[in-house]
Amino acid sequence: MPQIHELSSTLVDQIAAGEVIERPASVVKELVENAIDAGSHEIDIIVEEAGLKRIQVIDDGSGIANDEVTLAFKRHATSKITDRKDLFRVHSLGFRGEALPSIASVADVVMVTSTGGEGTEIHISGGQTKTQKPAEARRGTDITVTDLFFNVPARLKYLKSLNTELAKIVDIVNRLAFGHPDISFSLANNGREMMRTAGRGDLLQVIGNVYGLNKANKMLAIKGKDADFKVSGYVSLPELTRANRAYMSVLLNGRYIKNYALTKAIIAGYGSKLMVGRYPLAVVNIEMDPLLVDVNVHPTKQEVRISKEPQLSEVISEAIRRQLANQNLIPDALSNL
Ligand code: ADP
Ligand code: MG
Repeated sequence: MPQIHELSSTLVDQIAAGEVIERPASVVKELVENAIDAGSHEIDIIVEEAGLKRIQVIDDGSGIANDEVTLAFKRHATSKITDRKDLFRVHSLGFRGEALPSIASVADVVMVTSTGGEGTEIHISGGQTKTQKPAEARRGTDITVTDLFFNVPARLKYLKSLNTELAKIVDIVNRLAFGHPDISFSLANNGREMMRTAGRGDLLQVIGNVYGLNKANKMLAIKGKDADFKVSGYVSLPELTRANRAYMSVLLNGRYIKNYALTKAIIAGYGSKLMVGRYPLAVVNIEMDPLLVDVNVHPTKQEVRISKEPQLSEVISEAIRRQLANQNLIPDALSNL
């Protein structure tokens, strides 16, 4: 048996990257979540070849202080939580301090960041810092990732077609936009605009930007709450359905989550109004005390554990049930949209 030894930090980062950075869309998700956490108003995402050639995310958020830039790329270094008690009250999308070191360990990264005034430009490739120098920049962060998975050939091979990878990027940006109607997002691939939201705080407008105006015009506003949960959003009229569940988004305190029970609760709200095998379009935002949800279940943070999940399901179903019943009473309520 060889001797036991500690792995190098670069190798540890690469192992972590295996969990967090599965494909180009994972890089986009992590970078955009960082931009959201930084309090940005405008986030521009530019990709080439579905992110395989280049992923760039430009934000107008807080930026990173010059003397913290090196730390931002260290594993388990974060500005978002400090102690155990924070872990149960996570208000930000990030908190694990894993994304930047993971991405930098499997790609080439150039980041220009400034808190206002002179900022920093750092270039890291395969986990090794190449250069770090002062840079003129406006407040915010501009990060460019190229050569993704250059040192992880197996991961590269496993990727699907460019179209599939691009669809996954569009999907994640759409859902992040649903959770943040007050932020203006734009996404372009190979110079072609894929989506853009106005950032005026109007969720129905974001739904229109993403799914088209004619679909937004067939959505009903829902609202519901109880002692623990506040639910709001839009669901489609029973006449507007899809053959799969991909058009239902559940966001918990601004975080897009994958949760089968809550998706079922949306469908249950329609009762017998949906045809078998048809699913509605829906964007459901849930506000709740972070204490009631454990986001530290999976590295990508898309799976979470919610206490009182059956109770939350009922709030969602009931909000939809009530709105659809109202709709039947006032058939031309749509004309007000
Ligand atoms: P996490 O988001 O879990 O804290 P990351 O590795 O994604 O970990 O980022 C590390 C730290 O770098 C963050 O905690 C934050 O302080 C800083 N950071 C990363 N991206 C940005 C950004 N776009 N704007 C401002 N700060 C950022
Ligand atoms: Mg992060």
